[in-house]
Amino acid sequence: MPNLLITGTNRGIGLEFSKQYAEAGWRVFACCRHPGKADALKQLAAQHPGSLSLHALDVADFDQIEGLAAELAGEEIDLLVNNAGIYADTFRGGFGATDYQAWSRAFCVNTTAPLKMAETFASQIAQSQQKKIICISSKMGSIADNTSGGCYLYRSSKAALNMVVKSLSIDLAPRGILAAALHPGWVQTDMGGPNALITTQQSVAGMRRVIEQLTSQQSGGFYAYDGKEIPW
Ligand code: NDP
Repeated sequence: MPNLLITGTNRGIGLEFSKQYAEAGWRVFACCRHPGKADALKQLAAQHPGSLSLHALDVADFDQIEGLAAELAGEEIDLLVNNAGIYADTFRGGFGATDYQAWSRAFCVNTTAPLKMAETFASQIAQSQQKKIICISSKMGSIADNTSGGCYLYRSSKAALNMVVKSLSIDLAPRGILAAALHPGWVQTDMGGPNALITTQQSVAGMRRVIEQLTSQQSGGFYAYDGKEIPW
């Protein structure tokens, strides 16, 4: 049974990824900041005893990432999904009102932590059958797509994440590891809001297809949940 390691699974897209992979027969290491309070995830774990386990992980706390590595030592990891993310921009923000502390925080969670996860788990990923690292990015990180400005914190952290993914794809190719950045669509979650265009089910079903079909030629690319390549 293949293994998935995923961050930010107590709600939204991460919860749905955990559900769909568990239902597909995968072993899921589901990470979230506060497993004790993650009711929906605990319910899911109860439906998949022995195959879905909860792990405490604040991705901004690198000691916790090291602790998780010790906990999962010896496990092969077929797929790492760096899903945890924060929006961080506020309606009162924008040019002239940048919250620089919030920017550092957004960079830590959205950009630095995914690289730290990849560095920490690369050996275990290299030992697996499928050998894939997926970072959940956003079209808002596409420079070509930016026609409305603003959102400095989120846009820049995701654009930088895309560059992390590109370098990972080059550095880890000799170990057979593929890496890709995925845009999940505009999704009905706490972050996406109620007016978003697609459900978590549609988004994750699409991304699972893209992940399954990812080839070495596509490694280092930026794709939407429907498989379309997104310009940088
Ligand atoms: P939600 O806001 O619904 O969920 C975000 C998840 O990330 C939560 O589980 C949250 O945990 C977790 N998280 C935040 N900070 C940390 C941290 N420091 N350590 C661990 N976990 C953390 O967002 P979505 O599910 O919509 O977003 C998932 C990913 O998809 C993100 O990377 C986001 O940027 C991206 N995305 C989403 C879009 C959308 O339309 N929804 C569009 C484009 C990209 P907690 O509950 O503890 O805060």
